[in-house]
Amino acid sequence: MNSCRICGLDVEEGDICQECSSQGNTGPSSSVAMKINKKTLIVFSSLVAVLFLFLFGFFFFNQMLESEGLRGMNTVLENAGAVSVKAGISGNNSKAGNLAVAYDITKQTNRPPIRDLNGYLKWMHENTAEEVDFITARWGLASKYIESKELVGDRVIEAFLLTPREHFVRKPNIARAYDDSWLPIGHGATITDPDVVAMMTTSLEIEPQHRVLEIGTGSGYQSAILSHLSNYVFSIEIIEPLAKETDELYTSLEADYPTYKNIHRKLDDGFYGWEEYAPFDRIIITCGIDHVPPPLIQQLSNDGIIVAPLGPPGRQYIMQMRKEETEDKKIKLTRRDVYSGMSVSFIPFRDKKGQAY
Ligand code: SAH
Repeated sequence: MNSCRICGLDVEEGDICQECSSQGNTGPSSSVAMKINKKTLIVFSSLVAVLFLFLFGFFFFNQMLESEGLRGMNTVLENAGAVSVKAGISGNNSKAGNLAVAYDITKQTNRPPIRDLNGYLKWMHENTAEEVDFITARWGLASKYIESKELVGDRVIEAFLLTPREHFVRKPNIARAYDDSWLPIGHGATITDPDVVAMMTTSLEIEPQHRVLEIGTGSGYQSAILSHLSNYVFSIEIIEPLAKETDELYTSLEADYPTYKNIHRKLDDGFYGWEEYAPFDRIIITCGIDHVPPPLIQQLSNDGIIVAPLGPPGRQYIMQMRKEETEDKKIKLTRRDVYSGMSVSFIPFRDKKGQAY
């Protein structure tokens, strides 16, 4: 005995339903049909459940990526030939947002050998228009500083070997470009001793995605080196004609030295930093002062490093300072002397009236 599909009355197996026959009903409900219907329902609801779980999982995972900041793990994002950096990717609390990069150093594949002189000379001959005497002298200085541990790390060594100091000294001093000393560059300023540049650059511990701020552009030599180490170099100079000369020099060299396109420069008093692009991961002060200007500490990211010549006029010690935020949200600066207690004499850090700070 089965029941009718329409009215539910009892109907003999194979019989037409007495109640519903006039409506064209074919009689007893088929148990096979019922089974098929049940199966279809189970398969269909399983599919819906799987789809729902999949959508929910995708949404949840997406949310997790956003909140952990994992999307920003890639340091550079290529965008129509230019490269931009997402705020905060260098692990700091950057507010400056996207910043275009004219030339991406991380994409550079053709690199000079830095361990053998002949390979280096050959590479420089094939890839630059630089004179062999200058290149050989540069190798000589680099070898000396590697030995004295003033130049440490492959990236810093390479940056030093790729920077033509002969373009940054003044014409009358060109034969002295690779002397182990500072040289005058006019306007009461100097190009810093190459060993001091090597040591300060080494102690900055720069990564390509770091924002690096230099106070005291001067000849432009230090920033030229920095531009091989980071895609984001900022440099401030206070003497107007000097800033203009160096700006023109960079522009004239850009075709042969494309990393100089990444050097953002400004005429101003560097005491106040460069708020618009802060925070910086690294700051280098290249004029002498007896304290670190508070705005620069403020514009340094947590875990950032400042390297500066600190001390009274004519007698500074090169200090590397690290900024940390303590658990109770206090700012802690730890410092170490990077020149084993030796003092150096830097051009004074001056205000806009020419007064030393
Ligand atoms: N980094 C330079 C060193 C130049 S000497 C180089 O590689 O050649 C120091 C420079 O600091 C001078 O050019 C001087 O004019 C500049 N300077 C001094 N006080 C400054 C200030 N308040 N803001 C920016 N630059 C300053």
